[in-house]
Amino acid sequence: MHIETLAVHAGHEIDPSTAAVTPAIHLSTTFAREADGSYRAGFLYSRYSNPNRAALERCLALLEGGVAAATFSSGSAATMTLLQAIGPGAHVIAPDDAYFGTIKLARDIFGPWGLELSVVDMTNPANVEKALRPNTKLVWIETPSNPLLRVVDIEAIAKLAHTRGATCAVDNTWGTPILQRPLDLGADISMHATTKYLGGHSDVLGGALIARENSELFQRIVSIQMTGGAVPSPFECWLTMRGIRTLPLRVHAQSASALELARVLERAPRVEAVHYPGLTSHPAHDIACRQMSGFGGMLSVQAGANRTESLAIASRLKLFTQATSLGGTESLVEHRASVEGPGTRAPENLLRVSVGLEHVEDLIADFQAALTG
Ligand SMILES: *Cc1c(COP(=O)(O)O)cnc(C)c1O
Repeated sequence: MHIETLAVHAGHEIDPSTAAVTPAIHLSTTFAREADGSYRAGFLYSRYSNPNRAALERCLALLEGGVAAATFSSGSAATMTLLQAIGPGAHVIAPDDAYFGTIKLARDIFGPWGLELSVVDMTNPANVEKALRPNTKLVWIETPSNPLLRVVDIEAIAKLAHTRGATCAVDNTWGTPILQRPLDLGADISMHATTKYLGGHSDVLGGALIARENSELFQRIVSIQMTGGAVPSPFECWLTMRGIRTLPLRVHAQSASALELARVLERAPRVEAVHYPGLTSHPAHDIACRQMSGFGGMLSVQAGANRTESLAIASRLKLFTQATSLGGTESLVEHRASVEGPGTRAPENLLRVSVGLEHVEDLIADFQAALTG
């Protein structure tokens, strides 16, 4: 079945008790037990599972081509749960251009817990090979990466991880299941901040881990999810399900606009560099063509001579709101270095752009005016 069809139907069914076409939001935290001790629909208590969360998890597993999914109250809670499931004393390899919250979790929260972290440039798989240790349990990939839109060869890195019996997980937030399929490329776990493209409307926080196999590791993930309770509420699951129905349309439109905008910006005055995997000038454009069916709605542009000029360009934009986050219907721009603060790896003149659903000609005109203004 095509992913557009899955996005509309996966996890949805006509409500058997009311015939409602649109799913209900089940707020009940508890479920009645039958005389024989069983639970009619398998639900017992909402921290363990509930109808809205079960539907979302079914839907996400189908979208990513996995066997099961576990959802969380944020993308970071999903990452945290995976690190907890990997266990103390493990060595983890992560890319140097990962979402800064991911590195912060692994280093500051899990460091004192005994997690050993190696941060490497994963655009060259040899760096991963060199970093592998006997206790390497997890190789974390983020591609395209945040905020430099680096592209990592998922298949090559997953193979390397597997030579040492390590798990390979991919943060697929920017790729989305529409454009990139980590589990088909050999990764064991696909992770999402559903806050971004899957929710798609900047109104719900959430995260997910989707598993290629029902492994022992995934069972530990589910156990931590159910016991720790960093779970999304029924309403949040419902909102995410609603967002997913239009995910394919949104992502295709945002990708097409991002490519057009990137091409224009590449030739625009006061632009030092444009980072977008769809440009032939991107250092890993060939890998992006191989492992993605489109290049996504995110791009970064280095514009202006310094931080002050770059911030001035951002503030002259009218259609791009200066705000963090991404993947919503509205275009956003963010001066990443000042948001990440000390220790950031983002260049001082870098603006990260999330392309929304506005007409691309309006977005291009807005950027051109801001650059020359
Ligand atoms: C936003 C984001 C996260 C974290 O998700 P939250 O829901 O904010 O916790 C992780 N990875 C990437 C790539 C992101 O963009």
